[in-house]
Amino acid sequence: MDIPRVRLAPPEADSPSPSRMPRTRARLWHSPFDSDGKRAAVSVFLTQPAFVRICALAGRDMDNEVGGVLIGLWRADKTSGEQYIVAEAALPARHTRQGSAFLTFTQDTLVAFQQEQEERYPGKRIVGWFHTHPRMGVFLSDYDLWLHTHFFPEPWQVALVIEPHGQTGGFFVRSGDGRLDNHAYFGFREILGRSGRSLVYWKNLEPEFPPEAAQPMEGETHDE
Ligand SMILES: [Zn+2]
Repeated sequence: MDIPRVRLAPPEADSPSPSRMPRTRARLWHSPFDSDGKRAAVSVFLTQPAFVRICALAGRDMDNEVGGVLIGLWRADKTSGEQYIVAEAALPARHTRQGSAFLTFTQDTLVAFQQEQEERYPGKRIVGWFHTHPRMGVFLSDYDLWLHTHFFPEPWQVALVIEPHGQTGGFFVRSGDGRLDNHAYFGFREILGRSGRSLVYWKNLEPEFPPEAAQPMEGETHDE
């Protein structure tokens, strides 16, 4: 039998494509930990369709942990060289074992992620993963850290944790030296649509500007 090789991370000697960071048409959502002065290895951008999809998946089961992967782009800004990811889609995990306080990705889960990404999103990458913590708060458990280290080892791969009851969420992003703090999560940048309206409702994050200050960006298309 031909067993596909599990490879969520691309081969070595890989580098981010140069691009223009879509900062001007994105709203920055601050985490309460941003003032700690930590520097993330990558900035996180999230499209609105991806946000809506993630929230829908997160709300499927309010009692047990659910999760999946984030699909998108890994880029470096042409001018500053600063690295960033753009999460554009989310895939739910299949073949998992789950309970109220744990979610296990199996070998079959990983194979399914890779196949689905290659078939439906060729040219994109698995930029990280997400899972819920019903009534537990936003942090990474010891098991989450293990899973992140082993299955999402690239410096630019991130972990998103969502608490669906409290409507909170945050991204765990490695710092430049590769370390990961399991409690201090980062915010992200929401890529706004033409209306300039925000869809984010997570109560633990604060927008950089009041919502009415959003600037709709006419005629701009996304990245590629
Ligand atoms: Zn967890």
